[in-house]
Amino acid sequence: MATFKETPFNGLKSLEEHDPELFDLIEQEKSRQWRSLELIASENFTSKAVMDCLGSALTNKYSEGLPHARYYGGNEVVDQVEILCQTRALEAYGLDPTEWGVNVQPYSGSPANFAVYTALLRPHDRIMGLDLPSGGHLTHGFYTYSKKENTRKAVSATSVYFESLPYRVHPETGYIDYDQLERDAGLFKPALIIAGGSAYPREYDYPRFRQIADANGCLLMMDMAHISGLVATGEAASPFKYCDVVTTTTHKSLRGPRAGLIFFRRDSRDFETRINQAVFPALQGGPHEHQIAGVATQLKEVATDDFKLYAKQVKANAVAIANKLSSMGYKIATGGTENHLILWDLKPCNITGSKFEKVCDAVSITLNKNCVPGDHSAITPGGVRIGTPALTTRRFGEADFEQVAMFLHETLQIALKLQDQSGPKLKDFLPLLESSPEIKELRKRVHSFATTFPMPGFDPATMKYKNADGPEHLID
Ligand code: PLP
Repeated sequence: MATFKETPFNGLKSLEEHDPELFDLIEQEKSRQWRSLELIASENFTSKAVMDCLGSALTNKYSEGLPHARYYGGNEVVDQVEILCQTRALEAYGLDPTEWGVNVQPYSGSPANFAVYTALLRPHDRIMGLDLPSGGHLTHGFYTYSKKENTRKAVSATSVYFESLPYRVHPETGYIDYDQLERDAGLFKPALIIAGGSAYPREYDYPRFRQIADANGCLLMMDMAHISGLVATGEAASPFKYCDVVTTTTHKSLRGPRAGLIFFRRDSRDFETRINQAVFPALQGGPHEHQIAGVATQLKEVATDDFKLYAKQVKANAVAIANKLSSMGYKIATGGTENHLILWDLKPCNITGSKFEKVCDAVSITLNKNCVPGDHSAITPGGVRIGTPALTTRRFGEADFEQVAMFLHETLQIALKLQDQSGPKLKDFLPLLESSPEIKELRKRVHSFATTFPMPGFDPATMKYKNADGPEHLID
């Protein structure tokens, strides 16, 4: 048997050489992203520069602690990476470092939010966030009712460890019902109000949130995950003047790698120590410095004029698709949008969001079922959520989004026809998608259209599967 010294050194093999099976799956995914219309409002296509950071030597390093106060040695370079990220994060939002600080270590948005709760609340403290069926996020506190157990069920850790009374959008207007929030906060006396959400197409009224928080002596946090790219460019109102804490993900409209940030006020309440200690050692271990580098380089991008134009176009495209669908007689929740997403209410069309999502998938249009105003359950949502950040990164303009609206219209017409044939049950409906020649034909047109646009992050010319309809062995 060969000695260890004599065995081949595999550390410089490419993934293609080392693991052809996994390489092939990644190539399939690249091809899928290139030929599909990506409308998931929380997704984006990040740059090659960000991907270079994610695949860099920084992934090798442990750096528990904060810059210049680490538990391991060898962090002299990593310290500079993390400090650069902190500096750029504060600059991106025009924050004075004597008034605001930032922790750039959260692995993602959910851990960032839980770190804030861990830092600033005691177990079972009361919180109020936007209800999930109203467009809020799971980490803002959500309960369901279990019929089987005849009891409420806490769905996320937030509602396991804290007592949550959600606020809602008005069932008719779709706007946040601030009057109801004010009444409920007066009774519930929360320790924290959370603004922000995952499926809310309108601006947030931060002065009103602040006034309600002040009237009840509670903290105000904004989770700007969805709109952080718009806030950084002045395309959405800034929450910083009104909030005590602001969290965000970095991979949605900000277009960076998957990660999270926590911004905190620097004052006598010492949020800084409490939040830093909640991130590490309370909840996390070593920070992912390759991610932090990716965030840093994306924040450099965010400061450019190109990114400002991008953010403007994200909003213009959302208006364009909302107007086009409305002009065809479809119902858009709240009557339109002021940010990067729209909620398409499908109830008047007599099809569920879940069914329509499946048909969209079959024609390579990627979006998600979503509750719309008036829905009570997240299990059978009455519409879909459509976002513009990802395709705008691929240089789609308003006319292109009008074409996307036409594809969606065609998809819906096919879906309604198939539903007439199958009856209401999903299990009878799904097999029709596979055999429908109309689906196949539309999918081909979607592929031809999508593949004319550029793709950041990787070059389609170097992909293993360059056929616009995907890998040969997967085309039926
Ligand atoms: N906050 C909001 C408003 C979100 O929409 C999301 C994710 O969609 C998160 C937090 C959680 O982010 P992550 O999936 O990175 O944990």
